[in-house]
Amino acid sequence: MRVFVVNSGSSSIKYQLVDVVTEQVVLAGLLERLGQPGGDAADHVAGMRVVLDRLGSDAASIAAVGHRVVHGGSIFTAPVVIDDEVVAGIEAVSALAPLHNPANLAGIRAARLALPDVPHVAVFDTAFHQTMPAAASTYAIDRAIAAEYGIRRYGFHGTSHQFVAGRAAAVLGRPLESLKLIVLHLGNGSSAAAIDGGRSIDTSMGLTPLAGLVMGTRSGDVDPGVLLHLERAGLPVAEVDAILNSRSGLLGLAGSADMRDVTAAAGAGDADADLALDVWAHRIRHYVGAYLAQLGGLDAVVFTAGIGENAPDLRARALAGLQHLGLTLDAERNAERSRAPRIISPDDAPVAVLVVPTNEELAIAQAAATLVG
Ligand code: AMP
Repeated sequence: MRVFVVNSGSSSIKYQLVDVVTEQVVLAGLLERLGQPGGDAADHVAGMRVVLDRLGSDAASIAAVGHRVVHGGSIFTAPVVIDDEVVAGIEAVSALAPLHNPANLAGIRAARLALPDVPHVAVFDTAFHQTMPAAASTYAIDRAIAAEYGIRRYGFHGTSHQFVAGRAAAVLGRPLESLKLIVLHLGNGSSAAAIDGGRSIDTSMGLTPLAGLVMGTRSGDVDPGVLLHLERAGLPVAEVDAILNSRSGLLGLAGSADMRDVTAAAGAGDADADLALDVWAHRIRHYVGAYLAQLGGLDAVVFTAGIGENAPDLRARALAGLQHLGLTLDAERNAERSRAPRIISPDDAPVAVLVVPTNEELAIAQAAATLVG
């Protein structure tokens, strides 16, 4: 069974044709600069026609289309088959993700036109975290204001956290339902999730993907008073937005959003880069400690995404000093380069540490395949 996975941005369409049985990518590609001079197409509708052309005879093998949708608000708690009502629902929560949801919808509309005879499925970044208890999802602000503006913790990267948790259980040879896990999705965007018996009970991103860990260009947690202070000082909202979302994180602290640059600079003696790594690791440990407490026990910590999968030194730096919690690495296992999900703690460690490569496209394809049978 083949699922066509679409990740539509405001000016791009990323796509993959995935065989969910063999887990192989049949075909993958990207259209960029839609609507711009010299871009790959004039808009999403024209772009989808280009994609269909590229698919050629493979288009006939598509059993379903899986769409990545960033924000499902409180409406969507699982993947859904897209109809007009679902489109309206995604539209209704667009104010919560004004950069992402309209772009995702443009892709959905174009793909439904291009492939009208197969089911289309929306898979939400937020859905997995809808199991969080109210104590974790509620901000301590005026309840009427929160209700009026939809303000609560939603969390993101849910597709990845869920996928990685499932693979981790397989590597450990134990049912997911029996496991207490902390998943650390450490990439350009980063988030931590506490997963109890396969259900998300807490996560570091919030109303938006700005909260939590130190990211490539995003600040992660700051005192909300920082925003007020900057706005009172006369900075416009758009400027504060750009500072926190686009010019903070590793970029703000060390001058590059790319972790490889930051580690190289720190290795060459750059004090700013070294501090950036210390802040990055400090924040991760903060969440590991918090989630250990929320979970009331811990079977495994799981590293995933670009940094989590590829940077042994940073995994060690993130968990440094947590031996008293049972968190230790086997130096040789940690250093090994592999694409396979694997355990990197010693056999006798009280808490397992794993590396599990994430694969959001495969996860979306699997979710769509499960839903449409
Ligand atoms: P992602 O968003 O999951 O694609 O992750 C991108 C991030 O992973 C970037 O900051 C990369 O610099 C980082 N990354 C990829 N490979 C490595 C590596 N070998 N060492 C350190 N960081 C890496």
